[in-house]
Amino acid sequence: MARTLIGTCLAVLLAVSLAVPALAEPTAASLFGAEKRGSRQAPQPIGTYARGCAAGLVQLPETGPTWQAMRLSRNRNWGHPETIAFIQRLGARAAAIGWKGIYVGDISQPRGGPMTSGHASHQIGLDVDIWMLPPKRLTLSRAERESISSISVRSADQRRVNGNYTAAHAALLRAAAMDPAVDRIFVTAPVKVEMCNRATRADRDWLQKIRPYYGHHYHFHVRLKCPRGARNCVTQRPTVAELSKGGDGCDETLNWWVTDYLDPPKKAARPKPPAKPAPKKRGARDYTMDDLPRECRRVLAAD
Ligand SMILES: [Zn+2]
Repeated sequence: MARTLIGTCLAVLLAVSLAVPALAEPTAASLFGAEKRGSRQAPQPIGTYARGCAAGLVQLPETGPTWQAMRLSRNRNWGHPETIAFIQRLGARAAAIGWKGIYVGDISQPRGGPMTSGHASHQIGLDVDIWMLPPKRLTLSRAERESISSISVRSADQRRVNGNYTAAHAALLRAAAMDPAVDRIFVTAPVKVEMCNRATRADRDWLQKIRPYYGHHYHFHVRLKCPRGARNCVTQRPTVAELSKGGDGCDETLNWWVTDYLDPPKKAARPKPPAKPAPKKRGARDYTMDDLPRECRRVLAAD
């Protein structure tokens, strides 16, 4: 009897001690979201693209010769210096292709980390969203950058590209994929299908880096490799080579996005199991500092 009582007391104490810090602890997203500028540290991506933070990020200039950063109010135009250099290279390529340049969406928060809204990734300064909207001009005011919207390049039935998609989009995506700093690019599947159909046999190795994904019809998402020597940066697995078994990814896994994914094959009628509330998945927004690499505390505390 006494033993059970002690056992119960211990269980209650344990439950209370576990519950209290969970209630009191701020989320990492709220802590990183409050940071207004990068840390004065050597540039360093820390952790994985979807669970980490970044030291020494620098701000993409709001306007450059071939780009404009959009939605400035979000303060997400911070990236690793290699990301900033990549954006400048891509802007120059866009100009060579015939666009005025590029409209740049979110990169990362000033010190990376999880965000209270939007992306699960973009946490280590190596992800950047590029708008599908070809810039008409690179003189947008702050207010215009808040109000203008991008355009979708996908048809309403999600099976093909629409009339907004042009050869220039394909050329820009190809240029991005051929950049040696790029690990992979996420884009809506119909764009990849179109690129697979148009690529010549001699010029398609770069297609491996173009990856079909949910959404991504208003922008494409470029993910850079861990920079050389960045020992706290976790390289993503599986690699694009593994995902496409060494090929170009123009295969049945791509086709799935525009067939079975949209129109699941019907299964034989079975009695429905009783409905159970699905456990809420813990996402990047719920992370506390304990969920991130230990170095992220130093990034937050740094000047
Ligand atoms: Zn993105």
